[in-house]
Amino acid sequence: MELDTIAAISTPPGEGAIAIIRMSGDEAVQIGDRIYQGKKKLQDVDSHTIHYGHLVHPRTNETVEEVMVTVLRTPKTFTREDIVEINVHGGVVSADRVLQLVLSEGARLAEPGEFTKRAFLNGRIDLSQAEGVMDMIRSKTDRAMNVAMQQVEGRLARQIRKLRTQLLEAIAHIEVNIDYPEYDAESVTLERLQKQITAVQQEIDQLLATAHQGKILREGLATAIIGRPNVGKSSLMNALVQDNRAIVTEVPGTTRDVLEEYVNVKGVPLRLIDTAGIRETEDIVEKLGVERSRQALTDAELILFVLNANEPLSKEDEALFSAIKDFNAVVVLNKTDLPKEIDENQVRALVGDRPLVTTSLLYDEGIEGLEKAIAHLFFDQGVEEAEMSYVSNTRHIALLNQAKETINEAQEAAQNEMPVDMVQIDVTRAWEHLGEIVGENAPDQLIDQLFSQFCLGK
Ligand code: GDP
Ligand code: ZN
Repeated sequence: MELDTIAAISTPPGEGAIAIIRMSGDEAVQIGDRIYQGKKKLQDVDSHTIHYGHLVHPRTNETVEEVMVTVLRTPKTFTREDIVEINVHGGVVSADRVLQLVLSEGARLAEPGEFTKRAFLNGRIDLSQAEGVMDMIRSKTDRAMNVAMQQVEGRLARQIRKLRTQLLEAIAHIEVNIDYPEYDAESVTLERLQKQITAVQQEIDQLLATAHQGKILREGLATAIIGRPNVGKSSLMNALVQDNRAIVTEVPGTTRDVLEEYVNVKGVPLRLIDTAGIRETEDIVEKLGVERSRQALTDAELILFVLNANEPLSKEDEALFSAIKDFNAVVVLNKTDLPKEIDENQVRALVGDRPLVTTSLLYDEGIEGLEKAIAHLFFDQGVEEAEMSYVSNTRHIALLNQAKETINEAQEAAQNEMPVDMVQIDVTRAWEHLGEIVGENAPDQLIDQLFSQFCLGK
């Protein structure tokens, strides 16, 4: 494939110790040599080596920058094209100046995600791997990063290809039956077909079973902390944030806005929403906050309900218990350092079979138990120990579901002894759905849209 040479600043914008300008394409080395002066010309250096030198403006002969230049020759590169990476001193100005220089010497400014797109177009990675690259950039915990990494390594792709091969074999058998009906009785063909696609069906089910957890790892679990005023909600939020690396802090629009913070609880990313207390108030701004809090409760996938052990259970507490009855919840009995005033039996009755943990947030006690309870609610053995691969990408999940549906249709058709060519249509469609996951026959529009979500320089 003949593609032009592209360039972009590959390091994040802003100040840094170094910045990297990356070029990829047939002319990358030539363009490099037009502006680089060092011991050797870049065209003469070995692949995968790095070289000290200076960038000199080819027309003014002015020294632009002191640099380290890496030369990576096709095919063992990320894009499968020649790559030249110019390391410059950090700072927006110097990186930009070098980028302008390579652009004026014939490179074209890369679109967002175009390097990864090249890797895809040049056949180095498939679409699911490319999507993995994107997920890796965005992942919020190490575990989510691992899931994305497995995808980049092609684990999912291999599994999908195996399933496609199995379906193709089934299709081939039907083909034979259609072309040589005397070869096999139709009923025999249908029976064998059912066996073959049942195996595929089971594997798709297994993959889909990981989807819920995969999505949690990828997107984080929307978590609301609720409870009456003063029970310790803010203390709980702070404890979770302190005990864990806070990953992203959303800058709230106003001080009364719902505040969001990501924390990593035993590998499960929680998107914590401080609900500013679910209670009535006259203050209008405060009301907005409360409105949003109610919304947050509806959206929540996990609720941490805090009770004060130092006060008797109130009507409000009971109302909150009924408000959360359809939610995943962990009940936190806080302030256990103070004299117990709450009726624990009454609490247990309301909690039912949900986890109940006791804490003294003032003294940092009980947080480990709470974190364990959260992790076990969603992952039987806790995430960090689990070593399985997850389907986490929404597009993949949708396509797996479509494949599953068409296979079900094929099963039904076979059971009802429909003509084999009818069954074949369904099996072929399932094969196509799976193909879309790895980017086979993916429409250009989809590909463009996917890669445009990448950041510049990736
Ligand atoms: P919120 O209104 O529910 O957010 O509650 P806060 O987290 O702001 O806590 C209210 C008050 O209770 C603060 O003075 C905290 O220091 C105190 N507090 C929180 N947790 C504990 C605890 O476990 N024991 C004791 N004795 N006080 C606590
Ligand atoms: Zn608070």
